[in-house]
Amino acid sequence: MTTPDYDVAIIGTGFSGLGMAIRLKQQGDENFIIFERNDDVGGTWYMNHYPGCACDVQSHLYSFSFEPNPNWSRMFSPQAEIQAYLARCADKYRLRDKTRFNSNVEKMHFDEGTGLWTIRPEGGKPVTARFVVCGLGPLTRPSFPDIPGLDSFEGKAFHSQHWDHDHDLRGKRVAVIGTGASAIQFVPQIAPEVQQLDLYQRTPPWIIPKPDRRISGIEKRLFRLIPGLQRAWRRAIYWSLESRVLAFVITPKLMKAFQMVGQWHIRRNIRDPELRRKVTPDYTIGCKRVLISDDYYPALDRDNVDVITSGIREIRPRGVVTEDGVEHPCDTLIFGTGFQATEPLPRNMVFGRGGRDILDAWRDGIEAYKGTTVSGFPNLFILTGPNTGLGHSSMVFMIESQIQYVLDALSILRREGLKFVDADAEVQREYNEALQARMAGTVWETGGCRSWYMDENGKNVSLWPGFTWQFRLQTRRFDTAAYELCHLDDSSDNAADLDLRAA
Ligand code: NAP
Repeated sequence: MTTPDYDVAIIGTGFSGLGMAIRLKQQGDENFIIFERNDDVGGTWYMNHYPGCACDVQSHLYSFSFEPNPNWSRMFSPQAEIQAYLARCADKYRLRDKTRFNSNVEKMHFDEGTGLWTIRPEGGKPVTARFVVCGLGPLTRPSFPDIPGLDSFEGKAFHSQHWDHDHDLRGKRVAVIGTGASAIQFVPQIAPEVQQLDLYQRTPPWIIPKPDRRISGIEKRLFRLIPGLQRAWRRAIYWSLESRVLAFVITPKLMKAFQMVGQWHIRRNIRDPELRRKVTPDYTIGCKRVLISDDYYPALDRDNVDVITSGIREIRPRGVVTEDGVEHPCDTLIFGTGFQATEPLPRNMVFGRGGRDILDAWRDGIEAYKGTTVSGFPNLFILTGPNTGLGHSSMVFMIESQIQYVLDALSILRREGLKFVDADAEVQREYNEALQARMAGTVWETGGCRSWYMDENGKNVSLWPGFTWQFRLQTRRFDTAAYELCHLDDSSDNAADLDLRAA
């Protein structure tokens, strides 16, 4: 058998990569390496640092169950605090020693003969590993609109993920394109500073009040002294969010109640009837991600903020021209236009059996078995893979479910002396057919909107259509029956070993 450099290669140090590494360490597994393209840990929580960036899921749930933090400052903690939490986790488990920072994985190939992956970081030494755990996340590759004249813009332009804090916005005429989860967080922060803010809205989001508050010193002390109390608090948040599945998936009519709250929120915060009309969505709440904010609508109601709903025709060196022919001057352009969520990996990066690019396997849309493994790509585990996303609860719960699945897979592979496991194509197809059938009545399909959850064929490749505990039950055990198993003593391996010896 060919011995790899490492047993496991983990890509990324967000919640997925760090969570995987911590769980390996906790069971005494040290034979792994982590690749991180940035110079510090945190993944999306390191890369996104725009003003107002915070999590819209309660921190006591949006954190590892095995690393509770009694010191969260707020119900919904800001980005810097989440990044600091992840950094503390990395330090506590000494994961920095195992991480190659500034190491962007450019390509990885699977070799059927040896059953190993070769991972090639940009400008660095390649390494081999038996297993690859991909923790890249679906929301890391920024999406830019295809607008004529974009390159001609002479002012400052950046995406929300690449916020330029050195660019002073005071007194500037700023154009913001997009009104999604990121924009509704940074618009209220910059609106008081800028001279004029033109917000280009294609589709208004539904926004409900944010039940945020400071966590008091007494509460923190109680959480520290009585860990069971924090666990109970986490469980209470979990079940209150989980109950929303009834409305999202089972009976979208229940969404009407949330919609009434959204309408009331608009009336309460916006005086101008024309602006109220502009920001009121014409689709069912929940079809796109439901956003929470208390300061977004008041920001739009400011005299120096205009919501522009006429589409963008072109960008000129010093302004934005809308479909009605009006040129709106601006000197800073900020893209709050989201991410390439339905194509989470770039072409020419992941090559499986027979040298096949994973994007060719995904020609008809991205899919995986249990959101984690892809037929033709043995021993590769994708955390936050296709159809594992949530519109109602914490992704960390889904990530921990997947990690358990991977750990079980590793232990079975080692125990049974398997060279690799490869998801059976037919089982994967049936799994996804059943999953898509469950999508049929959900608010994402019936709500009358177009969202980033859908790919270009209108297939929801992003979300999990059910309760999160159902996903947890599915991923509790690695189900070898759904996989092609290749044993270490298979002839192909012997042949590869002979080839190597001959070389
Ligand atoms: P997003 O929600 O996808 O919003 C993108 C916005 O850009 C939408 O308003 C979209 O309009 C608009 N847009 C895209 N292309 C456009 C074009 N060509 N012309 C005009 N407008 C265009 O992106 P995001 O705000 O970055 O958030 C992405 C996801 O990241 C969220 O859904 C969420 O899952 C995650 N996130 C989470 C948090 C958190 O607190 N946990 C915070 C930020 C982001 P349409 O609606 O018409 O497409």
